[in-house]
Amino acid sequence: MDANLQNIRLQSLTRSITGKIQMDVLRTDLLHPVVSGNKWFKLRYYIEEARLLQKKTIASFGGPYSNHLVATAFAASAAGMKSIGYVRGETPHVSNPSLTEARNYGMQLYFLGRTEFAVQKRTTTHSEDSYFIPEGGYGSKGAAGAATMLQTIDSRAYTHILCACGTGTMLAGLIKAADAGQQVTGISVLKNNTSITDEVNALLKEDEKKKKFQILHGYHFGGYARHPATLLACIRTLWEKEQLPTDIVYTAKLLYAAFDLEQQAYFPEGSRVLLIHSGGLQGNRSLPPNSLPF
Ligand SMILES: *Cc1c(COP(=O)(O)O)cnc(C)c1O
Repeated sequence: MDANLQNIRLQSLTRSITGKIQMDVLRTDLLHPVVSGNKWFKLRYYIEEARLLQKKTIASFGGPYSNHLVATAFAASAAGMKSIGYVRGETPHVSNPSLTEARNYGMQLYFLGRTEFAVQKRTTTHSEDSYFIPEGGYGSKGAAGAATMLQTIDSRAYTHILCACGTGTMLAGLIKAADAGQQVTGISVLKNNTSITDEVNALLKEDEKKKKFQILHGYHFGGYARHPATLLACIRTLWEKEQLPTDIVYTAKLLYAAFDLEQQAYFPEGSRVLLIHSGGLQGNRSLPPNSLPF
């Protein structure tokens, strides 16, 4: 898949609130302007398998603002395959940037009502010609791909690794890649997504389940894609003070949580904290124009 891993770098945050810990951000958003961050990593082994099996088409599922579908469309086209996206919800009257982008990468979109979508998702399997990737890239191949995010840097010196989570696939990958002593913490961006712990565990082997990890449910800001004024203020401050762009759905909630946890002394003095910037900046396009300074 056509993306440049060399673009990924670490950014040290200049301000820790207490001055007692060090926080660095792994900028996987710099991977590619459209298919940034964790989506590419989660897809890489699915695409590799589809290629080995000489499939002609990749099919997957997502909501109408799905970063995953856009990334799938891109990855399929880069690998010389066709793509099909099943979109949850009736055909929208107006398209949106995500759907337009997916179409631009050649993805054929089918809009399904909620019930039909659920049925289609349950019944779709690989066929002779097409390879099926689960919604959000959730699955062991997705987690294995996400684990390689930590290979882009030397991550051993960090005491804590934090990421945002939706399906928990990236979190599962980071747990797999983490050393036994490292604490891995997921910030759930969905409201009351209590089944996520089971879903993460389902991707882990027995010895990986014993590693130190935790999912926090107090930073969803009202639910998926909700972005109250406090979150937007956090995004502006991060840009002004750190030149760090974040998105309303995932990474701003992660950064907000990290500072809040620091204030609550979640990180012992001297901790070295790695925050995974998982991309998703295109999600900010759903805001009114000029809402943000970047
Ligand atoms: C999809 C996405 C996530 C969530 O990843 P999961 O593996 O589903 O938990 C986090 N951050 C960004 C930017 C994303 O696009």
